[in-house]
Amino acid sequence: MLFGLVFAAALAGCAGPEPAPLEPPLRDANPRPALAIAPLVRLDRASVDRPTWPPSGGQVWAGDWNRIRAQQAPLECQACGEEVPRPRLVINRAADEVAPAASPTCPDCGGTTFYLEPFSTPYRPATDLAATRARAATLLAERGVFERVHLLPADDPTLDPVLGVTPEVRHVWRETARARGARWLLEPVLEEARVELIEKNGLHALKVVNLILSSIFIFPGVDPLNWFIPGEDYGVVQRLAWRVTDLADGPGGPGGPGGPGGPGGPGGEGQRELVTRASFADLGPGPTRGFFVVGFLRAPGCLDEEDWAHVAGQLTEVAAEDLARALVVAAEGAGR
Ligand SMILES: [Zn+2]
Repeated sequence: MLFGLVFAAALAGCAGPEPAPLEPPLRDANPRPALAIAPLVRLDRASVDRPTWPPSGGQVWAGDWNRIRAQQAPLECQACGEEVPRPRLVINRAADEVAPAASPTCPDCGGTTFYLEPFSTPYRPATDLAATRARAATLLAERGVFERVHLLPADDPTLDPVLGVTPEVRHVWRETARARGARWLLEPVLEEARVELIEKNGLHALKVVNLILSSIFIFPGVDPLNWFIPGEDYGVVQRLAWRVTDLADGPGGPGGPGGPGGPGGPGGEGQRELVTRASFADLGPGPTRGFFVVGFLRAPGCLDEEDWAHVAGQLTEVAAEDLARALVVAAEGAGR
């Protein structure tokens, strides 16, 4: 009887996450003037994008070298996670640079690219910023709230990785948006994206009972049913901030004091935290986080980078859709 109950509960929780609904699905009879959307900028760095040796751009900045020299942690193979000792750095006085005495190779897989810092939680998933913005534009066009939706070029101006969005960059965005006839400018910023264990859900207590019964009737620590019960809720947490500028009516806008080229008027700004979550089991049929002996007691401490990436991968698609829909909601706040 208990096992039947457990199995029904497992099946109920095995569905994947659904994108947040976008309501109301409207088609405006009197569309508002055109909207321009600036490139979606992300402030934190995805876990897979942390600095590597050899450096991906081929160039190492002086500050990075100081940081590299100050660290004692071993290098971590990018392909398999194996740790190798940090190579000794030598100073080449002729070339006025510091370089490792020898290029390390992974003893396990032969890889030659290494992370300079070990993985630490939270896991930060990679995000396709361009695709998410394009999806938001498609949704906006379908909903017909604005006459037109322009995507400002992502490479003009090119963002400086250190300085980020400067007043000069915003000035160019506003001018480009005005030149294309846009009335509104939306500037979206993904402040952070991370994956975390949101909670051990209502099935957790059931899993404890099942572990005890299995330990008595089967073998201590062997609880096969628990491998299929989705008792852990993992989620992608995304913090989105945005600013909407009215390009026409503000001080400095074409219709306001100061004339064209000014800072543009206030349109509003906001911030929102999105949580895309699903219930995970060790093994199928729904989302899985991989098998660990009595994993439901040990998670999330037992998850390494690869496990987190596996969890994140099953949420990525819906998380991207949630982010695109949040952009739509932010944009539609313009001009109200
Ligand atoms: Zn390796």
